[in-house]
Amino acid sequence: EPGLYIVATPIGNLGDVTRRAAAVLAAASVIAAEDTRVTAKLLAHLGLKVPMQAYHDHSAEHVRPALIARAAHEVVALVSDAGTPLISDPGYKLVRDARAAGVRIVTLPGPCAAVAALTLAGLPTDRFLFAGFLPAKAAARATAIAELAGVRATLVLYESGPRLAEALAALADGLGPRPAAISREITKRFEETLTGTLPELAAAIAEQPRKGEIVITIGPPLAAPVADEATLDAALQAALATAT
Ligand code: SAM
Repeated sequence: EPGLYIVATPIGNLGDVTRRAAAVLAAASVIAAEDTRVTAKLLAHLGLKVPMQAYHDHSAEHVRPALIARAAHEVVALVSDAGTPLISDPGYKLVRDARAAGVRIVTLPGPCAAVAALTLAGLPTDRFLFAGFLPAKAAARATAIAELAGVRATLVLYESGPRLAEALAALADGLGPRPAAISREITKRFEETLTGTLPELAAAIAEQPRKGEIVITIGPPLAAPVADEATLDAALQAALATAT
């Protein structure tokens, strides 16, 4: 059936491609890809040869309307380099405009590094905030972290190896000793998850930097200590004593 198909692809292990993803990619008349060289490898793994079109949300003006026009009567698939399109990846504007044009939109759920990291961290998952990549510049990053500090949820951040040490130092500074985890190279050969408080992790990474693709997960704000009844009573007595 014609439509715009949003197709999640593996985040490392090609075995994670779903059967539906393989079937839709095989049936597609065109695959809109973030980087056609990366997607070519996936297609080769699946034994497929399908025309591709490079797509970014800031693609040349004509690319998006052309894809949407085709999706009205053909199978158009959108993939990104890894994981779920639109999640820190291109696609939001394509879906927005396809929806406005009345084109059928179908999603094929699959790997997503943010969700995978949440399943590894051992942190609360009932409420989480996905905050994507922190800004690269120190001042903007500190502002972003200050904004996140009040959020009562587990935080999920994307990061790359070279910026990890700096990011962790800033996070330890802005958020304090919250429990956290660093998951890198998920589903790949050098997969690793480190856990500890933010200052502990910042120290560990400062000492031994890590390469590769990384998700940082951070537990919610530590509960403010609630005074028990005896403490409150004592405080009240003391206050009354000074008052008289
Ligand atoms: N759309 C992707 C998804 O669904 O996860 C995310 C794309 S974003 C441009 C790339 C970032 O995702 C990396 O810098 C890293 O933070 C994270 N990432 C992707 N693959 C990963 C992996 N195998 N292990 C850890 N993090 C990964």
